[in-house]
Amino acid sequence: MVSNIFKTIEKEKERQQNTIELIASENFVSKNVLKAQGSILTNKYAEGYPNKRYYGGCKFVDEIENIAIDSVTKLFGVRFANVQPHSGSSANMAVYRALLKKGDKVLSMSLDEGGHLTHGHDLSFSGKDYKFIHYGVEKETCQINYEAVRRLALKEKPKLILAGASAYSRKIDFAEFHDIARECGAYFMVDMAHIAGLVAAGLHQNPCKYADVVTSTTHKTLRGPRGGIILTNNEEIIKKVNKTVFPGIQGGPLMHVIAAKAVCFEEAMSLDFIKYQKRVVNNAKVLCDVLKMNGFKIITNGTDNHLILVDVKKSVNLTGKEAEEILDDIGITCNKNMIPYDSTTPFITSGIRLGTAAMTTRGFDEKDFKEVGKIISTCLTNYDNKKVLEDLKLRVKILCDNHPIYEEVHYE
Ligand SMILES: *Cc1c(COP(=O)(O)O)cnc(C)c1O
Repeated sequence: MVSNIFKTIEKEKERQQNTIELIASENFVSKNVLKAQGSILTNKYAEGYPNKRYYGGCKFVDEIENIAIDSVTKLFGVRFANVQPHSGSSANMAVYRALLKKGDKVLSMSLDEGGHLTHGHDLSFSGKDYKFIHYGVEKETCQINYEAVRRLALKEKPKLILAGASAYSRKIDFAEFHDIARECGAYFMVDMAHIAGLVAAGLHQNPCKYADVVTSTTHKTLRGPRGGIILTNNEEIIKKVNKTVFPGIQGGPLMHVIAAKAVCFEEAMSLDFIKYQKRVVNNAKVLCDVLKMNGFKIITNGTDNHLILVDVKKSVNLTGKEAEEILDDIGITCNKNMIPYDSTTPFITSGIRLGTAAMTTRGFDEKDFKEVGKIISTCLTNYDNKKVLEDLKLRVKILCDNHPIYEEVHYE
């Protein structure tokens, strides 16, 4: 019997083929990542770690997990790794639990200004279990002011300082954060979930050199399966982290996902991957410039990475929610996003976040992203003109048809 679910998967595949995916946290994995993730490894129980399992028959999954660990430590130039976290959120939970006691103070980036739910939101375990305080960005520049972070850290004396964000379009100076953490005697943790691919390609400062511990997702710019990793150079920390991941917060590892992570790490070591990441960053600049030329206000007035935050309220007097829905109607997918000093709520917002990682994987080049920028500008300034919208839908369709998903793309 073939389940009906496959019909719906086909529909989702068509949706992916026929829309321009600008959600900054998404990507299209390679066929080999898909193959590993869809493999018979899902059948295997392997609680524990290589050569220390609670089940028999682990010879080959041990090999697979060891390969994943070897590749990821090589990729990021770090000594130790745990590749078992089921997600970025679980990776963060494991680190907090390994290094902190309930109620300990953590200094992280505020959620409205770029941080993640697991960086201390009230509704997240993080905000419930630990006392989070936040640094933000400067009102003028919308960028991190390291002196302000230092003052706050020295005053509050947190047990852990966390750097990393989900909606920050500028480089983060991990060396500076490291110095601040040392000055106030805190652990320094980096969550590089969004920028891991850029780091792997050498296009962003590598946090593994500066942080006591680094967490990441594997499915954003890194372009692997949905999952998490934890990296450190500190032997004491990896011992604590390993115990916390299993048996602390997880049971059996997802061996099929770990195999897919291993494939992704190997791919990330290739020259093609570096070229791909360079194009991701360049395409973000191109998209940003076109929007600016059309009068859009960009938070920080530019981008250093794969994403841009557009202030749609100031630009075209729409809320982020409205802009997201209007773009969705012509086949462009993105997400509403709070902007620094936003006066609305997370369900409304004044901004949208746009990322270039996914469509660059599909082969979109500068010319294509210029066209995307023009389509977005025209759409958000003519959203009540049916005829214009019909024409834009057609232009979206042409771009999508020209770049089929799961066609091999090589980056020049
Ligand atoms: C996406 C993200 C996460 C969480 O990843 P999940 O796999 O969705 O749990 C954690 N931290 C940051 C900074 C992120 O952007």
